[in-house]
Amino acid sequence: MSAAEAMPHPMPVPDSDSAPFWDACRKRELRVPRCLDCGTTRFPPHGHCPRCGSAKHDWLKCAGRGRVYSWIVVVQPIPKEVFANDVPYVVALVDLPEGVRIPTNIVGCDPHAVKADMAVEVVFEDVSPTITLPKFRPVGAKA
Ligand code: ZN
Repeated sequence: MSAAEAMPHPMPVPDSDSAPFWDACRKRELRVPRCLDCGTTRFPPHGHCPRCGSAKHDWLKCAGRGRVYSWIVVVQPIPKEVFANDVPYVVALVDLPEGVRIPTNIVGCDPHAVKADMAVEVVFEDVSPTITLPKFRPVGAKA
């Protein structure tokens, strides 16, 4: 399938809980909700603290560094009509020192070179006029 025939990628749909996260990404900032009562950070963004139930939170600006917790290399995309031109690509869980584990992609290296506990840093990719995705690359990579 050629790029011209590829179907559009699915896009995140911000809601009232996650809109500040997506707004921050557009500004090249990675922010996660932090409970104002107990300090627990959480991801994905949602309305209440999973530890104490409080709805009061601010948006902690993360340093943008993390470590690969787990990952897969996608070689057989589903649905193929959408992702055929992207393979192979890496879907990963990255642990941030701010206390959250976030699903993301690893870019900027050979997909088969990803390793457990690899140090990574955030990069932002504009995928639509309103959505910017936070992805991660090996610290110091060029891509
Ligand atoms: Zn709390």
